[in-house]
Amino acid sequence: MTHKSIEWNSVEREATELLSRYLQINTTNPPGNETEGAKFLKEILEKEKIYCDIYESSPGRGNLISKFTGRNTIPEIILLHHIDVVPAEEKKWSRPPFSGQVIDGEIWGRGAVDCKSLGIMELMAFILLKRSGLFPEKHIVFAATADEEAGGKWGVPWLMENYPDKLKTRFVINEGVGLGLNTETGNFCFCQVAEKGVCWIRIHFEGKPGHGSQPHDNNCVVDMARAIDALASHRFKVCITGPVKHFICMLASEQNFMPEEEFLGLTDQNLSSNVLEKIPEKKLSQILSAMLKNTAVPTVTCSGSKTNVIPGECYCEVDCIILPGSTSEELLEIINEVLTDRGCRNFSIEINGQSLASESPVDTPLYNALEKGFRKNDPRAKVIPYMSTGATDSRFFREKGIPAYGVQMISSVESAEGIHGHNEHISSEHIITGIKILHDTIKEFCT
Ligand SMILES: [Zn+2]
Repeated sequence: MTHKSIEWNSVEREATELLSRYLQINTTNPPGNETEGAKFLKEILEKEKIYCDIYESSPGRGNLISKFTGRNTIPEIILLHHIDVVPAEEKKWSRPPFSGQVIDGEIWGRGAVDCKSLGIMELMAFILLKRSGLFPEKHIVFAATADEEAGGKWGVPWLMENYPDKLKTRFVINEGVGLGLNTETGNFCFCQVAEKGVCWIRIHFEGKPGHGSQPHDNNCVVDMARAIDALASHRFKVCITGPVKHFICMLASEQNFMPEEEFLGLTDQNLSSNVLEKIPEKKLSQILSAMLKNTAVPTVTCSGSKTNVIPGECYCEVDCIILPGSTSEELLEIINEVLTDRGCRNFSIEINGQSLASESPVDTPLYNALEKGFRKNDPRAKVIPYMSTGATDSRFFREKGIPAYGVQMISSVESAEGIHGHNEHISSEHIITGIKILHDTIKEFCT
């Protein structure tokens, strides 16, 4: 079966309907409830007579594994995505986040970009290969897992620990958590080959409790506010790591924001903030900025329970993201110093979760096949390897020496806005392009 004999219009309709239904299943993590999503995928796969199983790591936390056995029985490639999504602030959305509404070719819902759309693209590419009657040389696995958004404990690492054979593979295609860029010279697709490390911390503050009507100078809420402001205004040092240098150098010759030499100033500690300011695409500038340094962003606060009571303790949580080569210890030392310099007292820092930075090589047959797949479907496509600022499940495979590539099928800056934000949506046009790219890549690679 060739491209010509696949009815792409009907595939597009089918994929749009499936994504709409998938988005209607609320898999907000916590609690996750991924089993409902896994059952939905299982039903589709079974209709196609494709073998699959659901493995629950705890009640409701389902992981689905499906395989398409090739001549060679060693698994070659895993098409991975996560079933869970982050919470949505429903009131801030212009359409209900779990409605899966399809309006003017756009499919709306939490997970539309991150990353149920990838799940449907991978699923359709997988199914199309099966429908074509092809008997691949290599073994292909489709995996939909739990808990990525909360650190992954009940998903990939749980499977690796309890069913090590199920995730054995030579390569992984996963989410890219990134963006792309369209310029006069081409459509840039950023392929995630590396990611920063994560260190989630909780900072506890203690002070003197009392009546709100009698102010004193040992109020822990005020100390916490000082700490949050100090962290938000602290400028972390620019540090150029291998994957980022490579990314900036590749982008420098292709971008059209400024002369190439000037753009390369990003890699200079003294020039980078000026260059960042001059980049008109603010989302790109924001992401580039985070690629150049460690970051510590306050995200959660918990304090007091009554307006007229000064609490004796409170805490805030900070999302610390660490460059390859840096450690949590180094970052905590800096945070400690920043808070002390700002006059914060009686605080202690606790680590709530962490993962290391990771990287995959780009000189592999799968990376080449991906490049070809992108170019075949868009002659203007240029794939650029990059390091994401957020963590993905790819790190668990990279830790075992298995190259994992994060793909982003939309080469635009806007798509990144929906990730963990409001009004997440994706067009069915992007879905069908993504399916074609994956279909061609896998076919090229596995047959
Ligand atoms: Zn994701």
